This record gives sequence, structure tokens and C-alpha cells, in this order.
Amino acid sequence: MQDSGRDERAITRRALLLGGSAVIVGASEFLLPSSAMAASAGADIYHGSRLRAEVALTFHGGGDLSIARKILAIAKKDQAPITVMAIGIWLNSNSTIGQEIIDAGNEIGNHTLNHKTMTTLSLKEAKYEISKGKLALANLVGSTGRWFRPSGTQKSNGIIRAAAGASGYAHCISYDVDSRDYQDPPAKTILSNVTKSIQNGSIVSLHLGHSHTVTALPLILQALADRKLAPVTISELLRA
Ligand SMILES: [Zn+2]
Repeated sequence: MQDSGRDERAITRRALLLGGSAVIVGASEFLLPSSAMAASAGADIYHGSRLRAEVALTFHGGGDLSIARKILAIAKKDQAPITVMAIGIWLNSNSTIGQEIIDAGNEIGNHTLNHKTMTTLSLKEAKYEISKGKLALANLVGSTGRWFRPSGTQKSNGIIRAAAGASGYAHCISYDVDSRDYQDPPAKTILSNVTKSIQNGSIVSLHLGHSHTVTALPLILQALADRKLAPVTISELLRA
């Protein structure tokens, strides 16, 4: 594991060296003794165990509150806990929505402060986005969230993992099933995007702020029930 950590840092340094003005700050941080810096987050997580008939429905937490509340109501009615990766400015602008998510039996995680395309950020910018997203969660729901998902990319890079590690997140949560609901296709297309590739352990990417997702969610939950796939939170999906 130590070797892979060294490789990780080497990759990150190479990325920084290619990155222009952020080079000096970022690279010098990585030249500090290992005891003086936080460990980078480990490999991205795309799915949980393929041996358990469980899946996690994960939602980008942003957009119109009335749509978000409809999603929460459907999930609650079906006793299907979801995981909301919440954007900090969205939480900050709606003082109750974070707690509403928790109170309905769901899990909440960090999806950065401003939802920038994280692959374009310097280490300093990435750290700011993640730490401020964490602060929004702490202020509004009293927990920093166990999980982090980068914004604007399915895959992390060395800079993102370093910044996530600095905020205490052990991994970046990706997904293996993309509903593409953000493209606002008809509900039946969202459903088929999910059902054509879902399997044991899948992490599904969905969004709170798109109205067709409201129509698609009951269909998705029915499809999961038909396949005997239990919807669970990310923490439950990734339990040992
Ligand atoms: Zn997002």
C-alpha cells in the first residue's frame, strides 16, 4: 500500500508539473515529509460488492427545491433510502433541505461548494471546493458527510484525490450506471439507461433537479423490486 501511495503522489506531481502556474505551490506541498501531509484519497469507487443484491441510488444535490422534495417523497414512500451528494451553495441557500434529506432516512455527502468541473482545478482550488462543501454540510446538517463525489467528472485525478484526502475523505464516489437524466430525456429512456446496465452492487448516478427524474424514479424502483435488488445508501452498500 505504501508503494501505491508513492505512485499516487508521483502521478499527482506529474499532473501538477504539467499544470502551469499551480506547479510551485502544489509540487512543494508534495515535497513535504509524508508525516506533514494528509494522505490522498484512494482509488475511485464505482460499485459495491457484486455478491449482494443491493444497489445505491445516488443523486446530484442541486436545482429546484420542489423537484428535490418530490424525489424525496417518492423515495420515502417506497422506503428506498437514497444518497444525495449535495452542492454546498445549494445547501447554503436553502437552510432546511439538508436536514429534510437526513430526516427522510437518506444519506448525504459532499459534492463540492460550487460544482465546478474539477478536472480543470488547481490543487488549491480543489481543496477550497471540497473543504467549503464539507463546511456547508457541517453547518447545516451537523455532519461533514462520510463520502465525497467530485463535480463535473466521473473520474477523479491526482489533484482531486489529494484535495479529497486533505478534507478527510478516503475515496471519491463514482458510479457504474449513468441514468443520463441530466439530459432531460423521457422517463422511459432514463429507466432503460438504468436497467440495461444495473447489477448487484451498482452505484447509479441521478439528479435531483430534473423533472423527468420524478417520473422515472417510481419506474426505476419497480424495476429494482422486480429484480430483487434492494436500494440502500452508499454507506450500507460499501459496508464490509
Ligand atoms: Zn453533479
